[in-house]
Amino acid sequence: MDSQGSWVVVGLDNGGNKNNATVLDPGKGCLVDGMVETPSRVTEGPEVAVRELVQAFDDILKRTGVARERVRAVGLDTPGPASANGVISSKGSTNFAHDGWAGFDFRAALEARLQLPVIYNNDGNAAALYAHHVCFGADAPCHSSVSAIVGTGLGGGVIEAGRIIKGAAGMAGELGHVHIPMQGLLAEGQPVPHCNCGFDGDAESVASLTGIEKNLLPYWLTRFPGHELGKTGSLAKASKLVRSYGEKGDPMARHIFEQQAMAIGRLFTIAANFTDPSAYFVGGGVVETAPEFREWFMGKVRENTILREEQARAARFALVPDLDMAGARGAALAALEHASRA
Ligand SMILES: [Zn+2]
Repeated sequence: MDSQGSWVVVGLDNGGNKNNATVLDPGKGCLVDGMVETPSRVTEGPEVAVRELVQAFDDILKRTGVARERVRAVGLDTPGPASANGVISSKGSTNFAHDGWAGFDFRAALEARLQLPVIYNNDGNAAALYAHHVCFGADAPCHSSVSAIVGTGLGGGVIEAGRIIKGAAGMAGELGHVHIPMQGLLAEGQPVPHCNCGFDGDAESVASLTGIEKNLLPYWLTRFPGHELGKTGSLAKASKLVRSYGEKGDPMARHIFEQQAMAIGRLFTIAANFTDPSAYFVGGGVVETAPEFREWFMGKVRENTILREEQARAARFALVPDLDMAGARGAALAALEHASRA
């Protein structure tokens, strides 16, 4: 295989259970088509986790037949919260519960082990960058976009002129914690939803799995007495099942997802007046569904995104593609951008 060619970058996506790796050749694109997963072992603390990432790096080079000397930079993405430079929050988080993670400089530790520049992004930002590049290709630097990714929380990112907006403290693009108007979104007698971050009525309090469990499902079960999901004995369990009910057209589940779509639309309306992006991307479990449900959901998002006529003509709505690979590929794109400037 080619070991004398031009330079490449590697993307490493670090998740709660798995690492996913890719190699990006500026001339040829990604050198692996699918997922290349290895255990992340983050629950065992930073030392073990860094070792596993080095292993993932070595493995992906071996698999693609790329010589280590050709790697110019490495992109790393992890779930948050972390600083713009990859220092894990001292408050800890779901993925980084082990004591060793508090305040750990993940980026610098990996850089020291690999002896290569490591460029850090949180997973939402990496996925947003990937969606942006898939949509705009070579024109990526001429466009801006906003991505909302619905998972346990509401992640995503803001891209301006092809680059991730990180902010002074690395906390830009925290779309989930933007307050959105609740008037006309909440049903009669529905309490104002609360978010883990402490806010009431932000986007994540509605448009997230946590929002379903803590806020939406408890209310909607009172409106649909006797619904099967009220008999599971656990809101956590029931909230994970709402999507499959939604796909089957269940009226209660559709109310829940309509509220999520409204929340995302209202968030995009704020984005429209803030950065006026060229594209609005939606990702996550809510759109990784049967086509009918996905289209219904995206239609509701559009309906609730209030754009001026000129904006509606200029903007597009799309899905975040290949979400399971978006982290590694977005991390690699960020490394590519860094390496191109070097
Ligand atoms: Zn919040």
